[in-house]
Amino acid sequence: MGYKKHGKHLTLIPFALRKADEQLVDVSKVQKGKECDCVCPSCHAPLIARKGEINQWHFAHALRGFEGNKVEQCEYSFYLSVALMAKQLFQKCDSIRLPDYIHAHSVYSRYSHQVYKRTIKLTKGRRITPEYWLADHKLKGITVDAVCQIAGVKLGIILKRPDKKILINAANFEGKRVGVVQIDLLETLRIFRNITLSRKAGGFQQALRHFLFDRIDNKQWIYYPRQEIRIAAMQQELSAQIDKDEAKIKANRAKTQIKMHTEPVFDDGTLTEAHPSDSLSIPRKPPKPEVNLGEPVRYECVLCEVTWTGTERGANPCPKCHSHLYRRSLRD
Ligand SMILES: [Zn+2]
Ligand SMILES: [Zn+2]
Repeated sequence: MGYKKHGKHLTLIPFALRKADEQLVDVSKVQKGKECDCVCPSCHAPLIARKGEINQWHFAHALRGFEGNKVEQCEYSFYLSVALMAKQLFQKCDSIRLPDYIHAHSVYSRYSHQVYKRTIKLTKGRRITPEYWLADHKLKGITVDAVCQIAGVKLGIILKRPDKKILINAANFEGKRVGVVQIDLLETLRIFRNITLSRKAGGFQQALRHFLFDRIDNKQWIYYPRQEIRIAAMQQELSAQIDKDEAKIKANRAKTQIKMHTEPVFDDGTLTEAHPSDSLSIPRKPPKPEVNLGEPVRYECVLCEVTWTGTERGANPCPKCHSHLYRRSLRD
């Protein structure tokens, strides 16, 4: 789909399946060319390791033998390759850093014209050491990318990729004693592109390990065990506050309206006299509501390596590939 027309970068595969032990391996850890002895985990076609001087090292489908046939282009992409390797790395992960989980709630009151905001910290960010990782990636019947257990509670990991829609949200786990954290893989493309590979360096694999286990800016809580109980309590407290404030405003307004009735009031609420010719003229168009796109924001497309200034809201597609899929904000 999307990534096919978005340039060759997304077909540069950093990890492939080694035939000998059925493990995903880093391109820097195998022999050059056909000698790599690897196949594509998706279509099982042989791969070749391209380790030239100019292009970033990568695996590519060995197309000889397939030529002339109407073989469907394999969809094994950069991000799928990274996600598969991530799953393999999780099985050997000793500890992982998790971010704070702050839930924000805001309610607009049409009486006081005020936005009421409350935030609640559902958990504090920390490094956790799982008791073990489970081979079965199901969490209360929902398939996730990895599952571990900490102090008897299961934690699920979801890997977010620009080429795949995630249909899992907090509602899927309501009332369950599980946690779910999402890791956005988007930035790995940029990180991998800037790695200079050599035999000594840890390669893509080490960079990915660091990305997954040590960073928190790429992570986001989806669900914390029974979070809705604490969120509901916070919301109740907030609505009680709003009710109190609104009751005051309503009482004041009732008093003012009694006074107003002694003076002439026209439809539009002003006290000017309506001109007789007004009713014959073409009604004036209401002023166009101004679309508020918010503050200017710097964006980066990790695919095209371009940056531009867009707005807080709105489509803000990349000026080069015209897609928003590989865009990230540079605000943080
Ligand atoms: Zn393939
Ligand atoms: Zn782009």
